[in-house]
Amino acid sequence: MPSQQSEHPDDRLARLRGPQPPQPYTARKITALTANPACARRAVLDAAGVDKALLAQQVGYEPRFGQSPFALAREQAFHSLVKWGSYAELIRLLREQLSVPVAEAHVTDLNEVGGNTALHLRERETRRLIAHVASGQDIRLILDRPVLTLQVAGRTAYLEPDALTHRIEGKFHVVLIRSFAAIDGQANPTAVAEAAKQAAVYVLALHRAFETASLPTEQISHEFLLVCPKDFSNRPYGRLIDLRQELDALQFQLSRLRRAEDLAAQLPGTATLDTARSAGELSSSIEALDASYTPSCLSFCEMARYCRDEADGCASPARLGSGVRNDLPGIDSTRTALDYLDGVAAPGEAEAEAVDLLRAAARLRRLRRRAA
Ligand code: SF4
Repeated sequence: MPSQQSEHPDDRLARLRGPQPPQPYTARKITALTANPACARRAVLDAAGVDKALLAQQVGYEPRFGQSPFALAREQAFHSLVKWGSYAELIRLLREQLSVPVAEAHVTDLNEVGGNTALHLRERETRRLIAHVASGQDIRLILDRPVLTLQVAGRTAYLEPDALTHRIEGKFHVVLIRSFAAIDGQANPTAVAEAAKQAAVYVLALHRAFETASLPTEQISHEFLLVCPKDFSNRPYGRLIDLRQELDALQFQLSRLRRAEDLAAQLPGTATLDTARSAGELSSSIEALDASYTPSCLSFCEMARYCRDEADGCASPARLGSGVRNDLPGIDSTRTALDYLDGVAAPGEAEAEAVDLLRAAARLRRLRRRAA
């Protein structure tokens, strides 16, 4: 796999990862990162390109995560079908669903440039072709597997959307191909929402490409084209989905991420995230990175079971969800909260309000119990 990040010999993050090849940033990883922007641990692991599933395994936690081989094979087969015959199915969808006169559309394969698969070359060629189409020189060009970049926690992420369509009514559209079915035009809302978040990552990266080339960003559509199988057949179905909400949320969350290099600089010199090292060395390095566990981590992070046990161990209120954490400002342990309630310890001025709320909740609970 081509190197994801440029690696200066002094690159602390690359040294932390060790000799293992870096895992690239993906749109899925970026949406997961922005789902928990307070987590320094995940920010550093992703920026360093550490294989989090393997890391979790090395410290004794089998990650219950990732797509099954069957789902991956199905996804790949559907991708091939949509791309078959120079995107014949995509062109059909554009014509049928969006009334686009695309009979003469042609495709440029950006999986490589002159036999070279290096990401920076593909990204440069993508920018050149975008400028070419944006200027109106070749408006019927579909870009297959273009490469775009986005700054994430101070690092450059290289991203590969499935496709970019030529201009439809003057606008570029990101295309996502997914293998979950649309039954009677309705797909699983959770899967569609996840696809929309990932599409927003690509659209934002497309904005960066336009801005870098001083092109008018009004040419970028805030809708993306989702292509998935129709009903129970393998026939591709396409639908435009509005992304304005996702784009606003993503921009805000990206702006909240701290620079991964600054976070890594706070680690002791002996820290390592090299998955070939011993479990003890790895655990102490992971512990040195601040985590921000909430139960939602279980749905998107490979380290979730590790972090959950850690949060259990120190009785972190966040273990019970961000609602509980937010209701107990300044109280970093549920044991301390219970001590306050039982009168074993006295809260300070900063915790007084939260303890009053807790006492009221405890009173209410007692009354309910008596009434039951
Ligand atoms: S599981 Fe752990 S590393 Fe992953 S986002 Fe949650 S707290 Fe951070």
